[in-house]
Amino acid sequence: MRKKLIAGNWKMNLNITDSEVLIKKLTEGIHDSYFDKCDVLVCPPFTSLMVTHSLLRGTKIKLGAQNLHWEKDGAYTGEVSATMLLSAGCEYVIIGHSERRQYFGETDETVNKKIKKALENNLKPILCVGESLQQREEGIFKLVVENQVKAALEGITKEQMKDFVIAYEPVWAIGTGLNANSDQISEMNMIIGDTIGELYDSEAAVSLLILYGGSVNDKNSEEIFSTCGVDGALIGGASLKPENFINIIKSIK
Ligand code: PEP
Repeated sequence: MRKKLIAGNWKMNLNITDSEVLIKKLTEGIHDSYFDKCDVLVCPPFTSLMVTHSLLRGTKIKLGAQNLHWEKDGAYTGEVSATMLLSAGCEYVIIGHSERRQYFGETDETVNKKIKKALENNLKPILCVGESLQQREEGIFKLVVENQVKAALEGITKEQMKDFVIAYEPVWAIGTGLNANSDQISEMNMIIGDTIGELYDSEAAVSLLILYGGSVNDKNSEEIFSTCGVDGALIGGASLKPENFINIIKSIK
């Protein structure tokens, strides 16, 4: 079985001191043998990237950011570029999280620009897609996710898809305590895989990692990881609780 990717999205939580405490607990608690089954990634806020990077040196835990800007540099107050993330030690970057789409006006077009910039700089994108509750209830959820994937990948070549990760995160399951059931997750993973197959080919579809995100915790992770097509998880709330995050990793069979 291929390795899963377990990614923690810390969102706008933890100052530098709190980040140090969490990373120390994770590095002590995640034993080397766990990395046989998965890669582990943490995505702290920008202010904690450097300290996290230095604490992760010599460990197998990887570092990612939660966002980037598509321009190289310039007059974009408050934004952070791909090269800045690289210089802070990032290997991954989350792009198009539903909270950014919902609260910060992120569109399929800006998501696409960000993906292009990340790939140009050899940052591995974790593209987030997912439908709202209303879209699910209206029965348009498959089309919504298919369109999000297609728009995000406009102009991206098959070669650039090599290290690509897509997180299926139904908006109604993020931070709500509700999670999609196995049938819903595998159905959506199939839609995403088919879309990649249609855009590129079956090789690209097979090599793509598809994560599930939405209220994953140490009680539901075993079932989620055994769901067809799930290559790992993007974890918000539970990634801030070291015991919970480590138990999620341990639940991979
Ligand atoms: C997320 O932030 O991507 C997420 C899935 O959050 P939570 O696990 O808290 O639902």
